[in-house]
Amino acid sequence: WAKGAGRGRWAVYDPERSARDIARSALVAGLPAALDRGEFVLHYQPIVSLLEGRMLAVEALVRWEHPELGLIGPDRFIGLAEETGLIVRLGEWVLRRACHDAEQWRREFPDARLVVSVNLAARQADDPAIVDTVADALHTTGLPADLLQLELTESAVMGSAGEPLRSLYRLAALGVRLAVDDFGTGYSNLAYLRRLPIHSLKLAGPFVEGIRADGTDVAADHRDERIVDALVRLAHALELWVTAEAVETGVQAERLRALRCDTGQGRYFGAPAPAEAITARLRGGVAA
Ligand code: C2E
Ligand code: MG
Ligand code: MG
Ligand code: MG
Repeated sequence: WAKGAGRGRWAVYDPERSARDIARSALVAGLPAALDRGEFVLHYQPIVSLLEGRMLAVEALVRWEHPELGLIGPDRFIGLAEETGLIVRLGEWVLRRACHDAEQWRREFPDARLVVSVNLAARQADDPAIVDTVADALHTTGLPADLLQLELTESAVMGSAGEPLRSLYRLAALGVRLAVDDFGTGYSNLAYLRRLPIHSLKLAGPFVEGIRADGTDVAADHRDERIVDALVRLAHALELWVTAEAVETGVQAERLRALRCDTGQGRYFGAPAPAEAITARLRGGVAA
């Protein structure tokens, strides 16, 4: 008799599935203590100008340094943290840490004007307290608001009430930048998008993946390239910047530049790495 199978129904026992559930609940149970023990770390990935090759921003990507399992990626615990509500506390830690690191970079390399981009989970963005949390993170770290960007997915932008979050206007009023993450994978209401205080769109990886390493499109008709072309035009018509995610090769970077995409992010420009790697890059004055 398996719990959760619905009243009056028998569930087939699936040993693989229950092993997965046990692993999952072990991770969930460990999350709060991991936060208290300081087991989470931020890696940063460069966001680079396609025109000049300069690093304009870095995205903060959280990882869990698990004492037994090693480095665990966010895809394995962010969803769980959202379900349990821990995302609010974890997200606040991410925000403060990212603002702190960005302020260090600003002090050491003021001319770089490096922006730090932080992901906001839907549940965080939907909480009106987010505005105070962001204001406080900026205030306590000293980071100027215009050096912080917040990334929200299309569904997070629309919030649980089905209309754009009021907090977006209040966040924009603080002077932070707002970006729509994984653009093209969710549902966007263009009527709203055109009047929301958003600064940039991040084109989801799959469109970029469709531009093959050798420059030809996976579907020989260049469909993904035409979609990228259309999305870049749409973004520019809305006076937004466009970042291409998951850029893996020089050929892709070149195509994206030709399509007038503004910035790129992906292994080609640098994989996510600890803060020291960004510091080294700023110190080296490496162009890209
Ligand atoms: P995202 O915000 O879309 O982040 C981009 C993802 O693309 C990252 O995955 C990054 O490591 C990966 N990536 C980097 N270069 C390449 C590439 O060349 N090709 C491909 N295919 N992918 C590349 P990661 O680090 O595993 O993060 C996954 C997702 O977890 C993020 O997607 C974001 O939605 C979420 N996430 C990460 N950190 C946080 C956080 O602090 N808070 C919240 N709420 N979500 C986070
Ligand atoms: Mg993101
Ligand atoms: Mg993304
Ligand atoms: Mg994502």
